[in-house]
Parts: sequence; structure tokens; C-alpha cells
Amino acid sequence: MTATELSPKDFKSKINPDWCPGCGDFGVLNGLQRACAELGIAPHTIVNVSGIGCSSNFPGYFKAYGMHTLHGRSLAYAAGVQLANHELTVIATGGDGDGYGIGGNHLTHIARRNVNLTYIVMNNQIYGLTTGQVSPTSRPGAKTKSTPFGNLETPINPITSAIMAGATFVARGYSADGKHLTELMKKAIQHNGFALIDIFSPCVTFNKDNSYDFFKPRVKKLEDEGHDTSDWKAACEKALEWGDTIYTGLFLQREQPTLSDLEPVLKEGGPLARRPLGLSTEDSARIIKRMC
Ligand code: SF4
Repeated sequence: MTATELSPKDFKSKINPDWCPGCGDFGVLNGLQRACAELGIAPHTIVNVSGIGCSSNFPGYFKAYGMHTLHGRSLAYAAGVQLANHELTVIATGGDGDGYGIGGNHLTHIARRNVNLTYIVMNNQIYGLTTGQVSPTSRPGAKTKSTPFGNLETPINPITSAIMAGATFVARGYSADGKHLTELMKKAIQHNGFALIDIFSPCVTFNKDNSYDFFKPRVKKLEDEGHDTSDWKAACEKALEWGDTIYTGLFLQREQPTLSDLEPVLKEGGPLARRPLGLSTEDSARIIKRMC
């Protein structure tokens, strides 16, 4: 990371978001712009990787290097970027359908490998880009375009899933609480290891259940309750609460070597991206010729 005097405007791209007015993703974008500015991380040292969905348009609006990749595959690409140059700040962004449904297996394996990156999931409990189908976090009984008689499935809990998979930083934010969200993002980016922030980011167009009115009276901060972020059991218990109280904040943080800390190839010689190719120019030319 490079310590520089920066403002949130330095992370604003030339493209204005095309999200619906009131979409929770605006709060997440503002939060990340503020977090990176306050940490003084220069935009050219950040890579923002996304999959597919409304929230996965994020790299177009956030000024840094960006990759808009395949549906559900943002974490696989992000891990590749991190291993190619482990001195970069890698931030993956996307939604619940992208990350917990189609990309659910990647979350498990990136978490257990403790790849040093931050994963920001804008969880609106619906597929928004495709105009309102049930997602892995939709509530039971939710009536959507794909479940006109009500959702029959049990939703996954991203917090307990990430903890069970071995994630070393697991948090939940709320897009309407920008100050709290910014602080969580700063901690996640500074964490040495895999950091998940699941964020309630209401879809005002297609999810009328999990709205700002739903979350406002329920959301409570873990830090106001003196939660111990090293207590695995308490983290799981708090994450399972879903009723009049729903917790936001940092559930669990622990130290563990990252994949790039352990990888012998990366221990000496700096990032792979800066090393000379192992093949000579002649060998490379011969291989390319054979493939043509
Ligand atoms: Fe946001 Fe929903 Fe509109 Fe997509 S459809 S931009 S998630 S409000």
C-alpha cells in the first residue's frame, strides 16, 4: 500500500452508476471510496474484480484497475491477481446470487486458503439484474418471479458459512450506515488474509420485503454489545440471530498465515508479475509457432 493524501473523489470514475435511485449499492460505493481514501491507498495499486449482477458493475464506477469477469467467478480471478502480484490491494465486489449461489464453491475454497483479499458482497436477497428471481439468501416464503407461490428453500447464512469455511475476517455491514461501513471496510482491507463483508444493500425495485424500513429497527452493532471478535462460538451465535435483532459489525477476526505467506515460490524474489519469464525469447517464439 502507498500512503498518499487522497480524497473519495480520487476513486470516482468517469462513469455514473446506472443503479436505480435508492439502490443500496450507492452507499457501498461511497463507503469503499471513503475507506480507500482514508487508508491512502493509491488507485493504481488496487484491483477491483467483479462477476455479474447489478452490483458487479462496480469496477466501472470505482476508479482503480478493474476486471468485470464471469458470473460467480470473481473470487477465482481475484485470487489469480493476488498470487500474480501479492503487493496489490485486491478487492472483489458482487452480489448474493453471484457470490453465494453461482460462486458459492469459490467462497469456500478462497476462505480456507486464506487468500489475502477483501470480498464485498452487496446482499439484497434477490437477483436484481435479471428483474427479481429468488436468490440463495431470499427469505423462506418470498414471492418472486421464479417463486410465485413462495420460496420453498432455506436461505444460506453467509456469516456462518464463511466462518465454517475458515475465513479469518468475517463482518456484516448495512449500506445505509456509511460511517460504520467505511470503518469495517478499512479493517477488512488492512486485514492480512481473506476478509468477507456481507452488506445489507436493499434492492428497492424488486425486493419489497428486505427494505430500509425492514432493517432500520432491527440492525444492531456488535461493538455496542461488547462482542469479543476472537470468540468463534459467540460469533456463530450472533450470526444466527435473525428476528427483532440482526447484528452488523465484525463477528470474527483471527490471525493465520495467508496463501502467499506460505507459498515457497513467493517467499523470495518479489511478485511473480515483476520477474522475468522463465522461457527465453527463442523458446517462447518456438512454442507460439507450434501452436499456430
Ligand atoms: Fe439496485 Fe435492485 Fe435496481 Fe439492481 S434492480 S440497481 S439491485 S435497486
